[in-house]
Amino acid sequence: MTIDLGTADAVWIIGSLYLKTPEALELVLAKLRQIGYEVKDLRVEGYAIERGETTPEQMEQNDWSLWYASLKDIRFGKCKSCESRISTHGIQAHGHTCEVCGEVTYLHMTEGSTIRFRFASEEYTMFGPELNMKVKRWDAEGGWLYLEREPLDYGGFGIVHGEKAQEYLERHADEWELVEENGEQLIRVYYPERFDSETAVISAMDIHGHHWNHSVVLVWEDVEYSEYSRDFPLPKSISLYEAWHWAPLEPSPTLHERIIHAARQTSDAGYYYQDGSPAWSRRTYEEMGKFVRHFTTLDADAWDQVSRGFRLDGPGGIADVAAFCHPDAVVTNEPNIGNFLVGFGKALEGKRLTSAEVDAMSRAIQDDPDTQEFIGELAKRPKA
Ligand SMILES: [Zn+2]
Repeated sequence: MTIDLGTADAVWIIGSLYLKTPEALELVLAKLRQIGYEVKDLRVEGYAIERGETTPEQMEQNDWSLWYASLKDIRFGKCKSCESRISTHGIQAHGHTCEVCGEVTYLHMTEGSTIRFRFASEEYTMFGPELNMKVKRWDAEGGWLYLEREPLDYGGFGIVHGEKAQEYLERHADEWELVEENGEQLIRVYYPERFDSETAVISAMDIHGHHWNHSVVLVWEDVEYSEYSRDFPLPKSISLYEAWHWAPLEPSPTLHERIIHAARQTSDAGYYYQDGSPAWSRRTYEEMGKFVRHFTTLDADAWDQVSRGFRLDGPGGIADVAAFCHPDAVVTNEPNIGNFLVGFGKALEGKRLTSAEVDAMSRAIQDDPDTQEFIGELAKRPKA
């Protein structure tokens, strides 16, 4: 899914375009505009520039994308009742109706939906208690939610049911009321369409069973594609890089980071699974190889040979790329809660941990604030 740009000085790397010369850039921008892309100069309209976080010179030197091309006006709604192509504006708002046939396009909650929630007045802990309840109806405008009387006994970790659920409801008895509709007892609780933490009585964690009566389609040359279809004929957006500001890059202890980032991967070994599971594919190395060939002084033919033997797991792959780039390469390896949770989960299931996993876990416990906070929460958990 790339576009023929008619110049050898434009290199595609995973959906981004690297331009070798200003002339190639001009040519490519003209071509993209002709196809129908809207093109933004990020040195002028970029998010970081508008917030004063960087300068155009820094963006150029630090290999930021400098242009952003995107296809406009390709998203449409499709009403399931009348099959019309409609505007996406508001299409997923509760009670929104189709501008052609008037049918509702979306309901956030309807009879039979379930809502997992907690009472907002009680201090939040990640272990509940929470209730999972079946919705009877939602008067969104009035701000009232009507629930079936009996809490559900399923829905995940932290959910209370049976006696515990009744205790929890009793503890908050002044925050809901029992009403009768069509001979059925229902719990009525304040829940307006717009959440406001000042006035909220309940806080919803999860809602299932929305009513969808629409889809979103992409349209190109009057052909419709589903929203995430791989058949859409063009990239929906493209980031462009002006490589002449910084290329070719010389070998250095951190050059591997630039190569890994060009393939849109993280160069921190701590980010990945530590048990040897594959994180990359051969294709990842082929994309990195394009960057090596066109934008570094490294031996690209050697890369094409050697990289076929590079490991596919994150930490191994990073080490192999780093060793190829420089004899004194420095690999980042930050501890994080992901390492801790993966190891913790395996240990709970009685699985054996690799030594790299044990190492990553203990470093997370020692050095990572998120992991330390999580362990603190575990310690606070009330005894069942
Ligand atoms: Zn319709």
